[in-house]
Amino acid sequence: MITSQGFGKICKFSDLTSLRQTKDNVDDSKLIYLPGTNCTLRTQTSLSAFTSYRVGGEAEWYVSPRDLESLQASIEYAQENDLRITVLGAGSNLLVSDRGIPGLVIATRHLRSKHFNPATGQLTVSAGETIPALAWDAAALGWEGLEWAVGIPGTVGGAVVMNAGAHNSCVANMLVSAQVLSPDGTLATLTPEELGYTYRSSLLQGGKQIVTQATFQLQPGADPLAVTARTKEHKKHRLSTQPYSYPNCGSVFRNPKPYTAGWLIEQTGLKGYQLGGAQVAQLHANFIVNRGGAKANDIFSLIRHIQHEVQERWSIWLEPEVKMLGEFSPIA
Ligand SMILES: Cc1cc2nc3c(=O)[nH]c(=O)nc-3n(C[C@H](O)[C@H](O)[C@H](O)COP(=O)(O)OP(=O)(O)OC[C@H]3O[C@@H](n4cnc5c(N)ncnc54)[C@H](O)[C@@H]3O)c2cc1C
Repeated sequence: MITSQGFGKICKFSDLTSLRQTKDNVDDSKLIYLPGTNCTLRTQTSLSAFTSYRVGGEAEWYVSPRDLESLQASIEYAQENDLRITVLGAGSNLLVSDRGIPGLVIATRHLRSKHFNPATGQLTVSAGETIPALAWDAAALGWEGLEWAVGIPGTVGGAVVMNAGAHNSCVANMLVSAQVLSPDGTLATLTPEELGYTYRSSLLQGGKQIVTQATFQLQPGADPLAVTARTKEHKKHRLSTQPYSYPNCGSVFRNPKPYTAGWLIEQTGLKGYQLGGAQVAQLHANFIVNRGGAKANDIFSLIRHIQHEVQERWSIWLEPEVKMLGEFSPIA
């Protein structure tokens, strides 16, 4: 594990004092500027546009840093003001409560940089880069290894945390290392072993550390046309088997081996079942789609309904893969 310096060099105490004063003085204002950065915190920011479900309430505070220094300053601001931190990638595996999220939501989508190293075949990328864009970039260069990931609409950070996978491949199989930022401001470079990867899970799901960067091992030197053709095939397959035309979060439940969640839900007769604007997708029963105007609570209630129905029929409690943030109350 490699560590580096903490916050001290980034944001001075005097800066934070002025920040607190700024907050106290502008409670009705919408913006706070973090001194020494080009970064602003906003109050009461709707999160529905930042999740693939297109539902959810407001973040009490929201920030989307563009560099490591701004990210560190945002964390220090949260600590100084007793704000709980929630990290948001592309929001493609999240269900955010209609009541919103208290504290500070840190969106990583603007942490951008990528470097393909031909000497090592390694791709080093910042947390906010999107997985499909990287898959297409790698294919265009003739680098193999990311074709499977083209249909996963998340960021690098979210994929590393979730151990995203498809077509018998997953992040754990190709990750060389991930750089993470701890609450004390320390940066560490962790190996896949240190991240404790299992199926769609990692130790990072405890939510304490923020992924800032990741390095993946790819295989350069292939024919770009052939890699691009395989990537297109994967994309085509996904479009024909998954309901991309309505907002969704991908698979809602983890597969309880030896079954698949989709098969269990379908066999329970729930395909097409609808609660409010949320529906079990006709094309794939492990997807819940927002048919228009769904509330987060409709989706939450449908998740609970599916769990109870499958439990009654199969004595199996389906565990959600989607991460639920905030408070929910199921419709009785
Ligand atoms: C149409 C569709 C298809 C999908 N198909 C697949 C699939 O085939 N395979 C698959 O595995 N997933 C799939 N997903 C789910 C989702 O895309 C993945 O889980 C993805 O990895 C989530 O990335 P994200 O950036 O959107 O993370 P988010 O949804 O924003 O966050 C997910 C979790 O990671 C945390 N997080 C995000 N970024 C960071 C960071 N930088 N540091 C620390 N924590 C962070 C969040 O706090 C949250 O707990 C699909 C989703 C959709 C909508």
